[in-house]
Amino acid sequence: MTTATDAVPGDTPDGLGPTGRVLPDLGVPPVLASHGPARVIALCNQKGGVGKTTTTMNLGAALAEYGRKVLLVDFDPQGALSANLGVRPEDGEPSLYQLLVDRDLDVRTVVRGTEIEGIDVLPTDIHLSAAEVHLVSEVAREMILKRLLRPLLDDYDAILIDCQPSLGLLAVNALTAAHGVLIPVECEYFALRGVALLQQTIEKVTDRLNFGLEIDGVLPTMYDPRTLHSREVVARLVDVFGDKVFHTVIARTVKFPDSSAASQPMTTYAPTHPGTQAYRQLARELVARGLVA
Ligand code: ADP
Ligand code: MG
Repeated sequence: MTTATDAVPGDTPDGLGPTGRVLPDLGVPPVLASHGPARVIALCNQKGGVGKTTTTMNLGAALAEYGRKVLLVDFDPQGALSANLGVRPEDGEPSLYQLLVDRDLDVRTVVRGTEIEGIDVLPTDIHLSAAEVHLVSEVAREMILKRLLRPLLDDYDAILIDCQPSLGLLAVNALTAAHGVLIPVECEYFALRGVALLQQTIEKVTDRLNFGLEIDGVLPTMYDPRTLHSREVVARLVDVFGDKVFHTVIARTVKFPDSSAASQPMTTYAPTHPGTQAYRQLARELVARGLVA
């Protein structure tokens, strides 16, 4: 287990974290006596390759390590999250797609356990890419995922939705089903441009479909502590989003793709790696912010 003082990449000797703010004391989350209701968090950014799937997987695994019950929802037709969890589309089992098109199918028959204790998955496969076309003509087409997840809320402490890189109907479904949005942003120039568009979509959904939707946090990813450039992007994020920016930043390291290729979360693939510690710290921030029990 880890302590609040575990160093994560970007820590500076003056006690300021990589985001230029004093790191709060993030205690180890208390043991839970019971589970639920879950906070539903959509991991959203219409840009691909920013760390949505990696964060879904590794934040989920870190929360599970702290005894939280977690459901990971693979809402990207590419199915990378399902594959990372060792769930293959060719195995013929029903996936999210069947749930979206067959209203009589029980969501619990599609949820699967994984090899990671405390983590279940709602898997997907490439058929989901056809779902958008199906959904367009449905009544309350933006609410379909919300309705599907409702029976599961009491079983979990957190439900993390890994969104596809687009702002289409699937993303709107995820934002409508969610209590909060977690926005991974890579520490690259121009990253903020896309985030402005995402903010507009979030505002529209909040206005029309999901009044309670909040931004749970902005997570700087692909951070390189050696470059001024990375630090500048983080500073800019703090200018724009203030306290919504997590104190945790995720450094760029090849361990992340390595662990995905091994179909393992970092918690088992590289338990003591700084990248793993960073996701544990992110899990503690969510608990400390009162977002996840
Ligand atoms: P998204 O889901 O937003 O498209 P992914 O999580 O799939 O992004 O990440 C894109 C690629 O970058 C993957 O190959 C992943 O393993 C890798 N990756 C993710 N996070 C990091 C990181 N912090 N450092 C290095 N590579 C990363
Ligand atoms: Mg992805």
